[in-house]
Amino acid sequence: MDDLVRRYLRQQIELGGSEAFLIEAPREDAMGVKGRAAPAAAKWRKGAPAVPKAGIEAEAPDPTLIDPSLAKLDTLDKLAERIRKTYCCGLCPARTNAVPGEGNAKARLVLVGEGPGATEDQTGRPFVGAAGRLLDEILAAVELRREDVFICNVVKCRPPQNRKPLPDEIAACIPYLYRQLALIRPRVIMTLGGTAAEALLGVKKSLGDLRGKVHSYGGTPLVATYHPAALLRNPNWKKPTWDDVRIARQLLER
Ligand code: URA
Repeated sequence: MDDLVRRYLRQQIELGGSEAFLIEAPREDAMGVKGRAAPAAAKWRKGAPAVPKAGIEAEAPDPTLIDPSLAKLDTLDKLAERIRKTYCCGLCPARTNAVPGEGNAKARLVLVGEGPGATEDQTGRPFVGAAGRLLDEILAAVELRREDVFICNVVKCRPPQNRKPLPDEIAACIPYLYRQLALIRPRVIMTLGGTAAEALLGVKKSLGDLRGKVHSYGGTPLVATYHPAALLRNPNWKKPTWDDVRIARQLLER
């Protein structure tokens, strides 16, 4: 078994998949001419759930009304520079690096986590620890690469001991996220964990209540799913996450 096949099978097992599908090998046609089989349908589509019904409709706040100085920051790079160079809340002084987010400035999919962990604080990059590696595998399973999407967090500096960010920390930092979303204008937003879903939808609800619907953030479809770090602790959530990711993937094609 070559390395690619081994990695693919491991990924299917980690995602809770019960079946693995291999691309067909070249075969001979009826005339005995060697050729490739017709391209197989994308593997992630098999057994994908139907797109669920609409959920919460949240307004997208105008970040420049909250902080007019954000209007000048009209690219993701300028915004990242501001995030790296200034303090907005009590989390900032303790950081090694701020973690503004990274990826494709024209991404069709934006993934939003809670806040940087230890590896992210050390490197200044989002989702690069164990949870990030699982996120990369999940993206690959729906034929997306990290460079196709934009990955960021609600708060841009690491909370101590990876605790949940406090409401005043979220309130101080979230205009940056609003501005990132306004600049990118993705087709779909996927929130990873309850903090990001609650923050963007402006509600206090359990992730169980928020999953299974397509919400709207200023008209952009928003799919809420589990945080990859939670999947590492609780593998039972891998299957529901795999379903959510395939819902988001289908929305990208609409
Ligand atoms: N957890 C998050 O929510 N974000 C990261 O960037 C890393 C871990």
